Amino acid sequence: MEYKLLNDGGVESLMKIPLRGSADVIVAGGGVAGCAAALEAARHGCSVILFEKSMMLGGLATLGLVNWFVPMDDGKGRQVIFGMAEEFLRLSIKYGYGDVNPGWKNGIYEGKSEPPPRYCTGFSADIFALCLTELLNSAGVELRFDTSAADIVTREENGAVVSDGVIIYDKSGLGFYKSKVVVDVTGDADLLYKMGAPTLKRGNYDSYFGKVINMDSIKKALESGNIGNIYRGVSGGHSNLYGHGHPIDMPLFDGTDANDISRYTVSSQIRMLEKLKKDDRLSRDLVQIPGMVNFRATRRLDGDATLRPEDSWIRYDDSIGAICDFDGREYLYEVRYGVLVKTGFDGIITAGRTASGDGYGWDVLRVIPPAIITGQAAGLAAAESVKNKSRIWEPDIRKLQNILERENVKIHN
Ligand SMILES: Cc1cc2nc3c(=O)[nH]c(=O)nc-3n(C[C@H](O)[C@H](O)[C@H](O)COP(=O)(O)OP(=O)(O)OC[C@H]3O[C@@H](n4cnc5c(N)ncnc54)[C@H](O)[C@@H]3O)c2cc1C
Repeated sequence: MEYKLLNDGGVESLMKIPLRGSADVIVAGGGVAGCAAALEAARHGCSVILFEKSMMLGGLATLGLVNWFVPMDDGKGRQVIFGMAEEFLRLSIKYGYGDVNPGWKNGIYEGKSEPPPRYCTGFSADIFALCLTELLNSAGVELRFDTSAADIVTREENGAVVSDGVIIYDKSGLGFYKSKVVVDVTGDADLLYKMGAPTLKRGNYDSYFGKVINMDSIKKALESGNIGNIYRGVSGGHSNLYGHGHPIDMPLFDGTDANDISRYTVSSQIRMLEKLKKDDRLSRDLVQIPGMVNFRATRRLDGDATLRPEDSWIRYDDSIGAICDFDGREYLYEVRYGVLVKTGFDGIITAGRTASGDGYGWDVLRVIPPAIITGQAAGLAAAESVKNKSRIWEPDIRKLQNILERENVKIHN
């Protein structure tokens, strides 16, 4: 490659990037939202390629060690979130530890506890990741690991910005993959941002969780006969969702800034090691540290619709799925299709933690079960757009709703 040094210190190059493949739908990011989108599009007859920059599927839910399906119920004994979220929850515990309370039967809590236990479970992160690989592979999704979606190729057509495919970077170098629809599920709206779609950012608190086993936890696992009890959490920064525990003098982290990601990783790892140094070295082991940053919300689409905290209990005709509040028992929401798209940007859709949610509405929308529900809807919308050659922001909503309902998604509360 020839480079020309520029006066401002940068370099310039004109490079040819080879066409490496094509698919109806390209999914950039293999978190739970990306897996749901890829699976759904493949189940609806599309050729699908999924790019994942790490070496496993599941994103924060597996690699980020956030292996907990938050509640999928209304807090009063009725399940709200079904569809692919239910399918993934069942898959996550099929061959590994974890279970929902046995009082739950067919979406209703029939046990005696008051208030009812919530419909949620922990799961083995790594076993779930393997199960996702098997599931997507058997559905015909082409999985490309160790591959970063580096840029998006666009053109202007009839006043809209249209995506033509994705530039990737992998071991073989730069490559171009052509597609009809791109699903940006990078968790950071990387491609939407590069395409020029409106996006919004949020700073992140100091969270870094690892897993330790020690003599006590081994004893507990042995006594209970449940290997899931072997893990203990260890933190190199333990702020919760609301920022409690974040050091006063520490600036928030910008999850879209490379400097901040390294600043976060170095300081979190050193602080975790400092804690571990205090223990007897033969009494415990650190068995896992997160393989991706523990940032909850970084950058998201500013979509045609935005889920706001005050939207609870509002019925929306363009809902693509009902969801609940994982923290409270009172609030139910309907997710509008517009949180996934922006008018004027065609051939691109998002889901998961980059769907359009505001304030606590973003928090409700981004956690694992809703991320799967929006991923499923995005995959279906992508498939319909490919089939009908229709603009991604103008789907036949009734048709999407009917198909999703047949797939066990609850559309309205
Ligand atoms: C500290 C913390 C605690 C949490 N606790 C819970 C909890 O208890 N329960 C719960 O339900 N939710 C919890 N969440 C939220 C939840 O884990 C995430 O919001 C959800 O998993 C998001 O899924 P996603 O697929 O949208 O994004 P991600 O999981 O972020 O997936 C994005 C994927 O894209 C990949 N990627 C990124 N950029 C590129 C690129 N350019 N090219 C290719 N691949 C790329 C990443 O490697 C990753 O695999 C927590 C989150 C955090 C940070």
